[in-house]
Amino acid sequence: MRVLGIETSCDETGVAIYDTEQGLLAHRLFSQIKLHAEYGGVVPELASRDHIQRVLPLTYEVLAEAGLKLQDLEGIAYTSGPGLIGALMVGASIARSLAWGLNLPAVGVHHMEGHLLAPMLEPEPPSLPFVALLVSGGHTLLVDVPRIGEYRILGESVDDAAGEAFDKTAKLLGLDYPGGPLLAKLAEQGRAGSYKFPRPMTDRPGCDFSFSGLKTFSLTTWQASAQTEQDKADIAYAFEEAVVETLFIKCKRALEQTERPTLVIAGGVGANKRLRQRLKDLKAQVYFPRLEFCTDNGAMIAYAGALRLQAGAVEPAVIQPRPRWPLTELEALAS
Ligand code: ATP
Ligand code: MG
Ligand code: FE
Repeated sequence: MRVLGIETSCDETGVAIYDTEQGLLAHRLFSQIKLHAEYGGVVPELASRDHIQRVLPLTYEVLAEAGLKLQDLEGIAYTSGPGLIGALMVGASIARSLAWGLNLPAVGVHHMEGHLLAPMLEPEPPSLPFVALLVSGGHTLLVDVPRIGEYRILGESVDDAAGEAFDKTAKLLGLDYPGGPLLAKLAEQGRAGSYKFPRPMTDRPGCDFSFSGLKTFSLTTWQASAQTEQDKADIAYAFEEAVVETLFIKCKRALEQTERPTLVIAGGVGANKRLRQRLKDLKAQVYFPRLEFCTDNGAMIAYAGALRLQAGAVEPAVIQPRPRWPLTELEALAS
């Protein structure tokens, strides 16, 4: 089954074609980073307007790359939540219209299920069951996954998401937008042991996280320092180390608690080099998506949608995005 996937939940337009027999045929991404940079964050209305301009041209590009015509598609998948309502509305409207015009089945995909399944697009995908660590701009979740679609939350952030903490700390240190990857880059110049940051919530049982304190800790440490470039890099290093160590400790706990042999990492912070390196120390098989599929993309939506359509998912032809949508409300796929 050849499925077109459309991602428009935030500030990147992603389009891809996944074939359940041949795998990923083509994918394209347009990032709106430049559009939002001068505002220091995503401006929802600008995001929606830009998605409108990008979705169809990207669709024709992936079709051309795959050597296909619109008529060759057999299903359409789109992100229907969670995310920015206007941005979701654009993807849902275009996807539903295409499906209506081409007389194809369409399915709304949960953005975090998309992230979670992204490692399945790699040449050697993980096998189920596994524990998943979802670390993105809006979510920090540890999830037990007995089968696709059945998601048991083991722990989550009680305040900022890991990516959000990276972005906000970067801003406090005066880095450009979007700060997460820049902070990670700056940390490469930092010296080990210059500063010792806390490992939030590791001294109590469970797998929940709290990252907002690290942001404040970074700011007060910066203010108390001589504020040289080296201090900034050292603080970036200590901040990143604290996030990575905290994630490591909680992943270890989740694996012990569930007795799963496999850990899957997904979401934008999964692109972080130190995190990728450190999690390899766990006594588990650890899987990541390729770097470009850690952050938002159309491929993960095409893939997740293809699984659901292939399993016979049928949805009414209505445009009804869900800006808030708990992962636990999804239906499990028959395995
Ligand atoms: P969500 O998926 O929760 O709706 P989102 O789609 O905005 O949020 P993603 O696209 O998955 O999130 O990831 C973006 C986040 O990943 C940003 O917060 C960004 O700072 C962070 N990020 C990307 N690369 C790195 C990196 N190398 N190190 C740390 N953080 C990173
Ligand atoms: Mg983004
Ligand atoms: Fe995302």
